[in-house]
Amino acid sequence: MGAEIYGWIDRALISIHRAGWFRQVRTLDGPGPVIEVEGRALINFASNDYLGLASDPRLKQAAIGAIEQYGTGATGSRLVTGQRPIHRELERAIAALKGTEDALVFSSGYAANLGTVGSLVGKRDLVLGDRYNHASLKAGAQVSGSYYLEYGHCSVENLKNILIIERSRFQRCLILTDTVFSMDGDICPLVEILDLAEQFEAMVLVDEAHGTGVFGEGGGGCVEYLGCRGRTLVQMGTLSKAIGAMGGYVAGTKPMIDFLRNRAASWIYSTGYRPLTPAPPWPVSS
Ligand SMILES: *Cc1c(COP(=O)(O)O)cnc(C)c1O
Repeated sequence: MGAEIYGWIDRALISIHRAGWFRQVRTLDGPGPVIEVEGRALINFASNDYLGLASDPRLKQAAIGAIEQYGTGATGSRLVTGQRPIHRELERAIAALKGTEDALVFSSGYAANLGTVGSLVGKRDLVLGDRYNHASLKAGAQVSGSYYLEYGHCSVENLKNILIIERSRFQRCLILTDTVFSMDGDICPLVEILDLAEQFEAMVLVDEAHGTGVFGEGGGGCVEYLGCRGRTLVQMGTLSKAIGAMGGYVAGTKPMIDFLRNRAASWIYSTGYRPLTPAPPWPVSS
C-alpha cells in the first residue's frame, strides 16, 4: 500500500532523469581555494567564500573558543533560553558594519528572508520582486500570502509601471531585490529603486548576500558602496558567503529589529543560532 502511495516519487525521478535535471552531490575536502577533484588539484571559482575567511585561522580559533565557552548549541529559542552574550556582540558588529541601529541574526539567510518578508507584508499587501531574485526572497513572498509580482531584471521602468497600475489597490508595498545578483554578479539600480519606493510609499528589502564583505570601503555591501546608507531600507544578508561562516541577518532601525523579534516566525519558532560565529575580523567602520 505504501509503495502505491509513494510510487509517484519513482515516476518523478524518472522524469527528472529523462529531462537531464537529476543532480548529485559532490563531496569536497575542505573550504580552501584549491580543491582536489578526481585526483586533480583545481582552483575553486564556484565557492561563495570570496575572501577565504572560512579557513582563516583567526575565525577558526574564535569559533573554537566560542564552543568551549558556550557549547555547541543554543539550547532554545532566543526568546526563551537560547540567547548568549555572543549573540548580541555579533549583532552589534553587524549593525556597525551596516551602519544601522541594530541587527538580528537568523540560523540562515534563507530563514532570514522567510521570516522577514513573511512578517512585513500579508494578505492585503503588494510585493514586487526582481525576476532574478534569490529563491529565498521568492519563498518569503509566497509564505507572506501577499499579492506577488515580478518585474523585469533591474528594470526600473517596468517596476515603475507596475507601481502605477497596482500600488493603490494595496495597503503596504514591499520591493525586494538582490543587490549583487548571484548568477551574473550584476548590481541592482538601488538609488532609482529607493527613489521609486519613496514616491510610491513602498518599503525596500535588499539582499546583500553577495555584496557584504565584497563591496563598500568597509565591506558593508552595496548599500555602502552606492552611498545609500542614510536611506530607509531593510538590509538582509548572510554570514555564509564572504564572512565564511553560517547564518543570516537583518540590519535596520531599532523598531524594525524589535518588530522582527516579535513577529518573524523563522526566528521565534526556531532554536537560536548556534553561538559560534565570531564578529567579523576586518576593521569595522562605525
Ligand atoms: C545564499 C543566498 C541566500 C541564502 O543564504 P544562506 O545563509 O545560505 O541560507 C539568500 N540570498 C542570496 C542572494 C543568496 O545568494
